[in-house]
Amino acid sequence: MVSRVIPVDTFDLVIFGGTGDLAHRKILPGLYRRFVAGQMPEDARIIGAARSDLDDEQYRTDVRAALMEFVDRRLHSEEHFAAFLSRLHYVAIDARGDHGWKSLHELMRDGVVRAFYFSVAPALFGDLAERLHRHEIADEASRIVVEKPFGRDLASARALNATLAQHFDETQIYRIDHYLGKETVQNLMAVRFGNVLFEPLWNSQYVEHIQITVAETVGVAGRGSYYDKSGAMRDMVQNHLMQLLCLIAMEPPSRFDPDAVRDEKLKVIRALEPVDPADIVRGQYRRQGDIAAYTDDVEDLDSRTESFIAMKLHVSNWRWAGTPFYIRTGKRLRARQSEIAVVFKDAPHSIFGASAGRHRNILTIRLQPNEGMTLGVTIKEPGPGGMRLIDVPLDMTFADALGPDNDEVPEAYERLIMDVVRGNQTLFMRGDEVEAAWAWTDPIIEGWQSRDDRPLSYEPCTSGPEESAMLLHRENRRWREIRE
Ligand code: NAP
Repeated sequence: MVSRVIPVDTFDLVIFGGTGDLAHRKILPGLYRRFVAGQMPEDARIIGAARSDLDDEQYRTDVRAALMEFVDRRLHSEEHFAAFLSRLHYVAIDARGDHGWKSLHELMRDGVVRAFYFSVAPALFGDLAERLHRHEIADEASRIVVEKPFGRDLASARALNATLAQHFDETQIYRIDHYLGKETVQNLMAVRFGNVLFEPLWNSQYVEHIQITVAETVGVAGRGSYYDKSGAMRDMVQNHLMQLLCLIAMEPPSRFDPDAVRDEKLKVIRALEPVDPADIVRGQYRRQGDIAAYTDDVEDLDSRTESFIAMKLHVSNWRWAGTPFYIRTGKRLRARQSEIAVVFKDAPHSIFGASAGRHRNILTIRLQPNEGMTLGVTIKEPGPGGMRLIDVPLDMTFADALGPDNDEVPEAYERLIMDVVRGNQTLFMRGDEVEAAWAWTDPIIEGWQSRDDRPLSYEPCTSGPEESAMLLHRENRRWREIRE
């Protein structure tokens, strides 16, 4: 199956931090894939901007090396590389100084979409926003893209929003959460709101509980100094897991448009109850053989930052009263596995008797690896011998459904960048959403600080601390397995 590619309007995209890790690994490879897919107009341009003293040719050489490393080999083509790189330009610029801004002003074209990707430390966002205006490079039609972390608490997120608001309207600000760009996450909305089957059952009357797991095998070595100041709560829960929870729990928006969707997500965050400390498990991976301990990776032997967190949450509204949401995320776990599981209640009465066993429908939405959805349904075990029931998966793995050669399906970053060019903010976080998420997160973190809470130690390559399993066991539930 070949997906339809609708070309976007032509654009000048400036990547501040164009020589950095994110630009090399995600942004530029993503743009290249969109170029190969035929979505980039002939005259679209990408302008890298950073302090390093490079000219266009040197920047193209630098980006070529990144494409070789981070783009799937099947898409390597000298012809495509040459055509794509010819659209690249470079301006040496200092976000905090005057150097380079005049050159950038001269390079920008009139009459095309102007987008500015702030792929730099958040401390530079204000400097960039102010200089883009002072040098008349951005106008009221321009868009800016900002990366996580968007603040580290409510006060800093508010300050960041206020800084950007001095120069840009909310409709111009695209706060990226790349989880929202994943195909499965958008499919979750298609499944919920495009079918008659699910929505009538999507409430506490039929849903027993919901689990969200984002498990990683990597530790924090290499980014320890950043991670140790944030931890799993700030780095993953406040943004990615919260966004997934919102899409699962929100009411049907009246339209699939930015404010209708974001209004509903905001209501979910505001309906979250404060969390009982007894419903939170924090963990930190310990040393095992050659695998370094968290405290070695961050070089603070007394660090109290969590590399794992599991929590039980309640969304306090009519739809979800009585249905718990269990969320967990962590580093150095058994497998890289992100999924949402909607566990439905038992049939109200079993006509097959106790010997048929207990069966539940579970809708599993897999984000990685192997994006797709599975609905577990109960059927009769084939053959003679009475009515024995088994669960079989109705499986929709995207790679199977779309064919093995599904290169046309864009990855999260490229989809989101094309949405910026199209001017569609539906899959981006609005300022009030981010603030509401911090308002919910802050008291939890402050509680740990005031109690001097220490995370529990857990063995690498497991599912995290035992106590995480207990969070569900004590209520007769079980986490879904994190499988290798
Ligand atoms: P990085 O590798 O350290 O790159 C930073 C970039 O900013 C470089 O291109 C650097 O180039 C430029 N820069 C630094 N100071 C500058 C200044 N005063 N004026 C102009 N340019 C300046 O960082 P990164 O990993 O790409 O991350 C960029 C942003 O994305 C950060 O906010 C990070 O939190 C966020 N993020 C990154 C990832 C990731 O996977 N890397 C994931 C999510 C979010 P020069 O030194 O040449 O100026």
